[in-house]
Amino acid sequence: MARLSLLIDVTKCSGCYNCFLACRDEYYGNDYGSYSAPQPLDGQFWMQIKEIERGRYPKPKVDYIPTPCMHCETAPCVDVAADEAVYRRADGIVLIDPKKAKGQKAIVNSCPYRVVFWNAELEIPQKCTLCAHRLDEGAKEPRCVEACPTGALVFGDLDDPDSEIAKLSAALNVESYHPEYDTAPLVKYVGIPKRFAAGEVVRRDVPGECAEGVRIALEANGVKLETRSDSYGDFEFEGLEKNTAYRVRVELEGYEPQVFDIFTQTDVNLGEIVLNPLS
Ligand code: SF4
Ligand code: SF4
Repeated sequence: MARLSLLIDVTKCSGCYNCFLACRDEYYGNDYGSYSAPQPLDGQFWMQIKEIERGRYPKPKVDYIPTPCMHCETAPCVDVAADEAVYRRADGIVLIDPKKAKGQKAIVNSCPYRVVFWNAELEIPQKCTLCAHRLDEGAKEPRCVEACPTGALVFGDLDDPDSEIAKLSAALNVESYHPEYDTAPLVKYVGIPKRFAAGEVVRRDVPGECAEGVRIALEANGVKLETRSDSYGDFEFEGLEKNTAYRVRVELEGYEPQVFDIFTQTDVNLGEIVLNPLS
């Protein structure tokens, strides 16, 4: 048995769209028989890049989440398909049989990740195949992985303990995208954006200069994080849980400490924090 999959590191994705373009190049107008029918010119994104904007000026962020089919182990698309038109191979790849799936639009609507697309001309549902046709011919990885310049996409067999994907999955804090869908996706992620809290520190008695090296501690529910302001006086805590209360303490020797209670319903910018010298 094998479980072929992708590990996607969102923190390494620059949003260059190379993976999307490589996928289009592989599938647009190309017929791979029982693996996949030709992809049409418009409206299909087998490797989507979701842009997530977070925070607000002056602390905005953009993250990119590459989103292919998740090759779920309990896949609603398999369940809804008649005549076994969608099936899971022994290596974990979920495929749509273009002939058997003709007319089965319900397959598009069954996917909670919205990664199945309807080909109106051929009247078939279509999606990412993990380049199964290439893998079966001996290719080492899908086209998207080959095209990624940053190493954000890692392909391999999760059941092979010597594979890079298995080692990374064991070492890193991997998670599913939208675990609430409850489909046991084989595709896993690192660094899915959560909430961040940021701010900048200055000293009242040193106007015009940033306060570097100020200790910032964040605490809640047993979580204790600590950082120091950088040479611009800026600090940031990333990966905070959503809708959670945290206490932030700002301390510098010789100055009055400051405490802030924040709630991560949204990302939090504490703005400019002015430290007053101890009298
Ligand atoms: S992501 Fe959607 S299309 Fe892919 S296996 Fe899961 S349910 Fe099926
Ligand atoms: S090729 Fe790599 S870096 Fe570029 S968008 Fe795709 S995953 Fe991100």
